[in-house]
Amino acid sequence: MLPDNVPADLAQPTHAGPLATAQTQLAGAIERLGYDAGMHAMLATPRREINVAIPLRRDDGRTELFHGFRVQHNVSRGPGKGGLRFHPSVDVDEVRALAMWMTWKCAVVELPYGGAKGGVAIDPRLYSQGELERVTRRYTSEIMPMIGPERDIMAPDIGTDAQTMAWVMDTYSVNKGYTIPGVVTGKPLEVGGSLGRATATSRGVVHASRAAIGEAGLELSDVRVAIQGFGKVGSNAAVFFAEGGARVEAVSDEYGGVHRSGGLDVPRLMDHVRDTGSVVDFDGGDPIDNAALLTLDVDVLVPAAVEGVISSQNAADVKARWVVEAANGPTTAKADAALAERGTVVVPDILANAGGVIVSYFEWVQAQQAYWWTEVEIEQRLEERMLHAYSAVAEISRREKVSLRDGALLLSVQRVAGAHRTRGLYP
Ligand code: GLU
Repeated sequence: MLPDNVPADLAQPTHAGPLATAQTQLAGAIERLGYDAGMHAMLATPRREINVAIPLRRDDGRTELFHGFRVQHNVSRGPGKGGLRFHPSVDVDEVRALAMWMTWKCAVVELPYGGAKGGVAIDPRLYSQGELERVTRRYTSEIMPMIGPERDIMAPDIGTDAQTMAWVMDTYSVNKGYTIPGVVTGKPLEVGGSLGRATATSRGVVHASRAAIGEAGLELSDVRVAIQGFGKVGSNAAVFFAEGGARVEAVSDEYGGVHRSGGLDVPRLMDHVRDTGSVVDFDGGDPIDNAALLTLDVDVLVPAAVEGVISSQNAADVKARWVVEAANGPTTAKADAALAERGTVVVPDILANAGGVIVSYFEWVQAQQAYWWTEVEIEQRLEERMLHAYSAVAEISRREKVSLRDGALLLSVQRVAGAHRTRGLYP
């Protein structure tokens, strides 16, 4: 439960969605750590939020209005860091939850950042590139006072990509009067992006999976994998799992899925997706829907889409021994408890999908120094950081006899609270 001195709209999220899950997770960590209500309120409440209206002139001359948000959950350990999401279901509570998870994620992998997130409630598939560019530039201009390379650094998330980041960077830079690549990460290479950034989240997911199954003495070639969500993260994870020798038996996207016992031919599947835009109708397997995929008899289940897909409705039917959370918040708090009871090992989002923000950090460091690393350097440092963070979380979980999620939260909440205490209060 939240302490009394937390604003009413945070204490009662508008729906039992991601914010409720994030607050329940935090409350559990606070209780274990024995922190007081004041510290709880500080960590439960975003430092800063902005809510903007974004008018768009459509290509046909009509005007349409969108709502956008940027939330800085915590900036005690460094500038805010986190993605920008374009999705029709974006609302302020979702962005608050995602910003809080960014705080814990950056702390768990020891990046010198706080947590932030942005979102615009728009379905990007329904708009032209020109329209998306105008929305991005207007959003950036509205939130301009809040962002900057030492203040709050954006990156891609669902519905946005390297091109979106280039527009953000350009809008910000033109307004400041000089080029400032460090205001965003996940940029195209030609404007200061980093090698390895586009696939970093997926590589990190596979490193985390390898570490988790390794604890049971297994290797990638021993496991069958199902991936729910076939966007940037899920599709590249399928490639890296297959390259590592795992059998990727099922994948799905928002339109449907495909399943083949013994493993799908991932390179051929990727060609099909490139040609048709979906995994549906791939001739190398049988159709399967999203719900059935989540409860398939596989070893590793990788939710790689949106929040809340593993809930109390289906948690009891999840058969995978490991759930590796490539998405942010795919498991509700209730489902998490149910999975833990059944001995399912959940590698939590704030650890499993941290590869993206780790290479974002590398990109930001490179931009600040104007000195670029090789792909090999980036891949090695990413792997080192992922494995180091995994070991630290696994150790604390063993010591405290808690799940990997609770271990990761204990570690990160402690780090953020430590920064608060050391800095003290002003005035
Ligand atoms: N959107 C990604 C995430 O949720 C990356 C964030 C970043 O690189 O700042 O972790």
